[in-house]
Amino acid sequence: MSALESELALKKTQGKSILEVRNVKKYFPIAGGVLRRTIGQVKAVDDVSFSLPEGETIGLVGESGCGKSTLGRLIMRINDPTAGSILMGGQDITRVKGRQLRKLRHDFQMVFQDPYSSLNPRMSVGSLIAEPLIVNKRGTRSDVNNEVVRLLEIVGLTPEARLRFPHEFSGGQRQRIAIARALALRPKLIVADEAVSALDVSIQAQVLNLLADLRKEFGLSYVFISHNLAVVKHVSDRVAVMYLGRLVELAPKRQLYSSPLHPYTQALLSAAPEPKRHVNRERIVLVGDVPSPAKPPSGCAFHTRCPKVMDVCRSERPALKEYAPGQFTACHLYA
Ligand code: SF4
Repeated sequence: MSALESELALKKTQGKSILEVRNVKKYFPIAGGVLRRTIGQVKAVDDVSFSLPEGETIGLVGESGCGKSTLGRLIMRINDPTAGSILMGGQDITRVKGRQLRKLRHDFQMVFQDPYSSLNPRMSVGSLIAEPLIVNKRGTRSDVNNEVVRLLEIVGLTPEARLRFPHEFSGGQRQRIAIARALALRPKLIVADEAVSALDVSIQAQVLNLLADLRKEFGLSYVFISHNLAVVKHVSDRVAVMYLGRLVELAPKRQLYSSPLHPYTQALLSAAPEPKRHVNRERIVLVGDVPSPAKPPSGCAFHTRCPKVMDVCRSERPALKEYAPGQFTACHLYA
């Protein structure tokens, strides 16, 4: 996407941005031979741009390996991008280090798919939630204890939960504990990576409702990463669809689900089970596997699987452009 098109995508958002992702790339080197020289690159995230206004939720969807989780980790600065910039509240977090980064980190937190592996099993729930408050010197011991109880209540757990250990809780309750810990430093942005994917459907709904309530109560913004289109629809204001490290469509939720433009989005939606489907969609079966991001196809990366492929698609990469108000897609069909 050109700088101009990135700017267009950024300007489409209303209000003050909490997050701006600008032309971000993450390439992982592939080592080979006896000397382990770099013989190629995996383009996990390839020139992605979007912005997120305060209080909004953007859903990132795509098949496994499309780069959505890598993008989440770049936003959290768990990994550094190869190129591009990520602005949090106007400040470029890809340029800060050390103390300044630690301070900025209070504003953005991550909730992972498996809360059991992200919560230290040897620590009591109380200690887990208190840890970020103690490390960051947020009040006296008694202030911290009161805050732990308050956070447990906010996520729907009793104060007694603080005396128990993560393994004593169900998956849904453990995710609530992870959310309470993430909220401890009063973040502005939460990146939720497949946060409900490991939970039963009935529990998923409870955790999604909790996230929606917290958004209203604390004015939170979310980047919600999921392979599940129904889940993303439930929580998002806008949805970004990724394929092989690139954004192929970005649109307000209603538009994307009722009139998707990109053939990949159309295929994903045709395969997604939706109980109250208001649009009669014919099932589009995609043939073949997702190509390797180490060797992406030429032109449009989706051309090897696209049911509407044209000659131009094999040689020219389509740019992400706005084809309907607020709806951006990267496809030659609309050029
Ligand atoms: Fe299909 Fe061509 Fe559009 Fe790519 S650019 S999605 S191959 S029609």
